[in-house]
Amino acid sequence: MQIADRSVASFHYTLTNDAGEVLDSSEGNEPMAYLHGSGNIIPGLEKAMAGRQAGDAFDVTVAPAEGYGERDPKRVERVPRRNLKGIANPKVGMQLQANGPHGPQVVTITHVAGDVVTIDANHALAGETLHFKVNITNVREATEEELSHGHVHGAGGHHH
Ligand code: ZN
Repeated sequence: MQIADRSVASFHYTLTNDAGEVLDSSEGNEPMAYLHGSGNIIPGLEKAMAGRQAGDAFDVTVAPAEGYGERDPKRVERVPRRNLKGIANPKVGMQLQANGPHGPQVVTITHVAGDVVTIDANHALAGETLHFKVNITNVREATEEELSHGHVHGAGGHHH
């Protein structure tokens, strides 16, 4: 069967950036499963999956607008060290939970200079053009329960 709304697709993928560096891959793990048409995966990838079937292998390039969005310089902030409650020794690369305008969000420390710490609330892959190598391993119909939850249950999905 072909991938369409209300279907669950499982796939292996390797994600590289423009420089050809591997950013993420499902190799060595179970394939990732998602519910098509529910926004479980980034729009550019979901679009490229439509109409494919088990056994299909393809490459797709996803621009930031259809991936994790453009980097927003307004989401980068410099804060005094004392504002980072409970973090005695802030280091570049640390991720922490902060209160953003839309509730809690994960921010990454990108620079530490004396008393001033730079935190970035952009997604780590914002602004990146994403290159996916995809290999579809299975396509099936979603169950009513999966459709009502808006995500996949079982292998490669939620266990609850
Ligand atoms: Zn569920």
